[in-house]
Amino acid sequence: MIQKILIANRGEIALRIVRACRELGIKTLAVYSEADVQSLHVQLADEAICIGGPKSADSYLRVDRIISAAEIADVDAIHPGYGFLSENAKFAEQCESCNIKFIGPNSKTIRMMGDKSVAKDTVRKANVPTVPGSDGPVDSETEALKVARKIGYPVIIKAVAGGGGRGMRIAHNDVSFAKEYHVARGEAEKAFGNGAVYIEKYIDKPRHIEFQILADSHGHTLHLGERDCSVQRRHQKLIEEAPSPFLTSDLRKKMGKAAIRAAEAAEYESAGTVEFLVDQKGHFYFIEMNTRIQVEHPVTEEVTGIDLVKQQIHVANGQKLEFDQGDIKWEKHAIECRINAEDPGRNFAPSPGTIGLYYAPGGPGVRIDSHVYSGYSIPPYYDSMIGKLICTGTTRKLALERAYRSLSEYLIRGIKTTIPLHTAIMADPVFIEGKATTAYMEEFLTRTPPDLFT
Ligand code: ADP
Repeated sequence: MIQKILIANRGEIALRIVRACRELGIKTLAVYSEADVQSLHVQLADEAICIGGPKSADSYLRVDRIISAAEIADVDAIHPGYGFLSENAKFAEQCESCNIKFIGPNSKTIRMMGDKSVAKDTVRKANVPTVPGSDGPVDSETEALKVARKIGYPVIIKAVAGGGGRGMRIAHNDVSFAKEYHVARGEAEKAFGNGAVYIEKYIDKPRHIEFQILADSHGHTLHLGERDCSVQRRHQKLIEEAPSPFLTSDLRKKMGKAAIRAAEAAEYESAGTVEFLVDQKGHFYFIEMNTRIQVEHPVTEEVTGIDLVKQQIHVANGQKLEFDQGDIKWEKHAIECRINAEDPGRNFAPSPGTIGLYYAPGGPGVRIDSHVYSGYSIPPYYDSMIGKLICTGTTRKLALERAYRSLSEYLIRGIKTTIPLHTAIMADPVFIEGKATTAYMEEFLTRTPPDLFT
């Protein structure tokens, strides 16, 4: 049984894992960079070891140092959180070979789903619809152009190793294709050290709807319903909610079953997410599987009452899931706003610095997952997300009203944040009516005077 866990991450997710472990009576070891001494997860974990300099490459991505810390502190398992090494098959393999349980699926599954083109192939064989596109990566510009013409413009060029919206370019004709193909390859090479790309039909104004999967090592795979993550800027999620205002219960059933087939095809174990795009007619297409806990997991926790981080630990212990598909109910509505240290008035420029006054909202149906506090200095080296506001109610209307109310109470002085932007969105009729597609943010930012969201 797992008695001590190393948390190979930082920020709010590291704190989230500390909290789950505390409730389970499991000891925690925080590993941290020199820039994160002040961070709450370092202060709240049972033990902490500094593993290097501020840059991720010198600390949170240093497999050797993390494994050494694990051995020194004699942990049973490593929780990788999201980002950093969470989807790194080599890291999972190293943990496996050191007899340390990696909290997530096995390295084979991570490798298979980490290559988006292999992932598409795998799920297609399990009868899960995928976006029409190239059969695997395209090797040359000539071949790529042939595929693009065959599927018909617009097309999207995507990095096989992609993530975080990088290495993804849209082309509307042969001329833009020639340019974007090389830009996508260059970006992919730089971001992932792998320039391989594939081509997909670009779906017009889709919804991004993903299903939360939970699977144990005894062959039980369930889904915990969907999250609608259509509110995105540059392919990065800003707001997520569950259930999706777009799905009918029929479509939910169909997509849930497809998500389970996708996870089973990957021999999945632990918590994971199957992502789909849904077009305006309700046709859905698999785009990728994320083999880790996701930023937006709390909305699912709030509507189902299931603690996903505890479930990951439960499954990692080799235990069976204690519920069946029929036990999972979605009786509430939850919405999450990602609070980023960015200036929406200056093209979302990062706004690191020291927080003066910090006052978080509370009251019924309000949850804050954040590692910051008054006097905390946000290091400039990492992701700009400094917290998540999750509001829950018995109806979507109530969840939205709570979000609006909480955002107006939320005080973070000394830096710029996305709070005013979220407040404006919560009052926007298109969003309130549940009509936001992935094209929503661009359209919102174009039609809204900046002083309303800064
Ligand atoms: P990443 O792994 O970088 O997050 P995804 O494949 O999950 O990339 O896609 C991220 C977002 O990009 C989607 O939510 C959607 O908004 C957009 N996108 C991806 N593929 C397509 C497509 N074929 N058509 C339209 N939009 C797409």
